[in-house]
Amino acid sequence: MNNETKPKKPVLKPLPVECSYQNRSFLGEYPCQKSFEIKYNRTIGQYVLRNNWDYWTQKDEDKGKYICNICLLKMYEEDKYFFWQSVRSKRKKRTLGSYVKNGSLSNSKR
Ligand SMILES: [Zn+2]
Repeated sequence: MNNETKPKKPVLKPLPVECSYQNRSFLGEYPCQKSFEIKYNRTIGQYVLRNNWDYWTQKDEDKGKYICNICLLKMYEEDKYFFWQSVRSKRKKRTLGSYVKNGSLSNSKR
């Protein structure tokens, strides 16, 4: 193996962001506003995309909006109507479903 000859990719610092998801319940809407960090994935050489809201909705107006793992889980499991309305791509729906099933959202630190 000659892995050592590969140039090392730079690792960027985690990006501090705030969750812009609106919780919907019988009490009304309230924003999550949780501060969390977007991790840099060294393997793919870019920031993890799943906390970008526009990654799911594929809408320009959602650029710069973020959703935390807890809200992604909550939306998928409890706010199904909103999820189906917002995430139009079948592939993205399946992607989020697999994140929920493989536990990659709930294993993160709270
Ligand atoms: Zn949140």
